[in-house]
Amino acid sequence: MEKEKSGSLSLEKFTFDESWEEKRKRAERIVEILMETHPREKLLIGDPYRTLVHCIISQRMRDEVTYRVWEELFKKYHDIETIAKTPVEEMQEFLRKNGVGLWKTKGEWIVKVSQIILEKYGGKVPDDIRKLMELPGIGRKCANIVLAYGFGRQAIPVDTHVNRISKRLGLAPPRVQPEKVEEYLAKLIPYEKWIYVNHAMVDHGRSICKPIKPKCNECPLRELCPYAKGLVGDGDVR
Ligand code: SF4
Repeated sequence: MEKEKSGSLSLEKFTFDESWEEKRKRAERIVEILMETHPREKLLIGDPYRTLVHCIISQRMRDEVTYRVWEELFKKYHDIETIAKTPVEEMQEFLRKNGVGLWKTKGEWIVKVSQIILEKYGGKVPDDIRKLMELPGIGRKCANIVLAYGFGRQAIPVDTHVNRISKRLGLAPPRVQPEKVEEYLAKLIPYEKWIYVNHAMVDHGRSICKPIKPKCNECPLRELCPYAKGLVGDGDVR
């Protein structure tokens, strides 16, 4: 099979042969199955600002702790105006007391981000990935999370679950960075389904395609999965 290149994306990086067309068809089927198995009952169009704060707290934190602290934070400080006026040291202390790692940096980011959004954007979180990524503490993953979960836009946040599962499924090649994984997924998955990818892969990663010992025997994607067929190895999934 002749291996093709597409922009900076290349089939040569994969550990098995498959054309772009075959890969696209397989990707589409995978997303359909994931959407059936982990339905998104309603589009998670939430509150962009709260989503953004949640994302800052969540960095290198367990989901349950993040959620608890995030709820506490908004119970105590209510809104962006109050948070923007809160002294950085007070926010840092709040996070530290609640067991948040990197509390110093995150406390500063939360207050500064709130001030910038108020001063520069009139209190409205920008719905533009470049503007979001200019905010302190907001990398590409968080920016995409705000777009997908805050605004309900088509975006593919690549977190640890999406990164691992995409590589096991051979939708992204071994050992590429999350930004590249996003590019491969964006090329392979129809635009109108992007918003489901993070949600469905996170659920799938927690329940079946776990970081260690994935439950391939129970997996509805088994027939479509190169990892289950031994074509992708654990060393490739980084
Ligand atoms: S078959 Fe195994 S490796 Fe492939 S997606 Fe399912 S659980 Fe993950």
